[in-house]
Amino acid sequence: MNYYQLFLTQLEEAIKACKIDSTVAQTLKLPMNEIIIHFPVKLTSGETKIFKGYRVQHNNTLGPFKGGLRFHPKVHLEEVKALAASMTIKCALQNLPFGGGKGGIKLDPHQYKQEDLLRISKQFSKRLAPYIGPNRDIPAPDMGTNSKIIDVMASHYPGAHHKSVYTGKSLVFGGSEGRLEATGRGVVYCLESYFHQVGETIRGKTYIIQGLGNVGLHAAKYLDRLGCLMVGCGDHTGYYVLDNPGEGHVTDNHESLSKIPFHHIEEHVKKHRSLTGLKLDGVKQVDKSSFFKTQCDMVLPCAMEMEITKEVASEMQTKLVVEGANGPVDRDAELILTERNIVILPDILANSGGVIVSYFEWLQNNQFQFWKEEEVNLKLREKISETVLRVFGEVKKKKCSFRMACYHLAIERINMVYKQLEI
Ligand code: NAD
Repeated sequence: MNYYQLFLTQLEEAIKACKIDSTVAQTLKLPMNEIIIHFPVKLTSGETKIFKGYRVQHNNTLGPFKGGLRFHPKVHLEEVKALAASMTIKCALQNLPFGGGKGGIKLDPHQYKQEDLLRISKQFSKRLAPYIGPNRDIPAPDMGTNSKIIDVMASHYPGAHHKSVYTGKSLVFGGSEGRLEATGRGVVYCLESYFHQVGETIRGKTYIIQGLGNVGLHAAKYLDRLGCLMVGCGDHTGYYVLDNPGEGHVTDNHESLSKIPFHHIEEHVKKHRSLTGLKLDGVKQVDKSSFFKTQCDMVLPCAMEMEITKEVASEMQTKLVVEGANGPVDRDAELILTERNIVILPDILANSGGVIVSYFEWLQNNQFQFWKEEEVNLKLREKISETVLRVFGEVKKKKCSFRMACYHLAIERINMVYKQLEI
């Protein structure tokens, strides 16, 4: 099962429970537009290469299509379709005036010089321009892209509205305070609200995290500030755990080590762009399967989709999985985790901080306003905790999983709007 099939299975299950109009159900299963663009770029080497770019516009019932652009060697149409559809659900769940879209280019950003990535982005922006716009489709950064790339794309969008056609821009270019950290911060706000609802405190909780990019690194940063203990971390270059998680460990400096020091991980990742070559007293390198077996209170997959398979799920020693990445838990794994009473906070809830602050950025751009960082963070926290509360209500009412509760609330909202339209 690929990620798109996984999405369709989840959607089908949710639709059955919601009893919505069958036309609406059919509409949600298919994207409105699938755009594929082949475009040439002259690279700094003098070579001209053809790239393949995608933009899938899933649904705009609630407002303009909204969703990131991903640069990754595995980008393909089915993946982009799933990601676009999940944006429709995410925006509807958070009561944002947006639909869902997603795009990307099939390329490995690590294989290109920064200047080449900017040239590729510039050409993609020009080719994408006829299909997007501030009230039509608003792209943002995702895996492998960042504010620099978005700045270039926004500046090559023709016309006066270049600012609000993209979100996730750098501050000098009209970006919002707090947008860079928003997804990781949102993951942590979601966790805080979850623990509040179940009558526990987040302080002192242990966790392992996969992926220390934009989402993972910021989530780990705020978890560290709240007194959570990282006992394992990993990415595509390697996995690391504490020698003796839970028991504390005495380092060469006679310090007691009960967590992997976040500041060290942050420095390392900023310098090397990954965990490659990480060496720390009291921390050992392990294989991926041992990593996921590490005992901890929560697991944060913040890298790729379909990383937690049934093999991984049956051996996880945790109580909670928080989906920082999109679609990291596959179908079989979800069934096993549910059977084992391991709670999953789904992507459509847990990683929605990015699109929420993208919405704030779009609002600020359109109203010529600049909000302070504290204001952005406060509004983000309020929005997420209010949604978590609604999701808890739905879980209780329907006796369903958190994922299904999120789908129900989102689908019911879209269905209500469809009822007003003539379709
Ligand atoms: P990123 O490119 O900044 O970081 C990706 C991280 O994943 C890196 O640490 C990388 O080493 C790791 N990784 C990549 N391939 C891997 C593999 N095969 N195995 C293990 N680790 C691997 O990307 P990001 O923006 O942090 O996005 C991560 C996930 O979160 C994606 O699923 C993305 O769609 C989702 N997401 C991102 C945002 C956002 O605002 N950036 C918002 C919502 C969801």
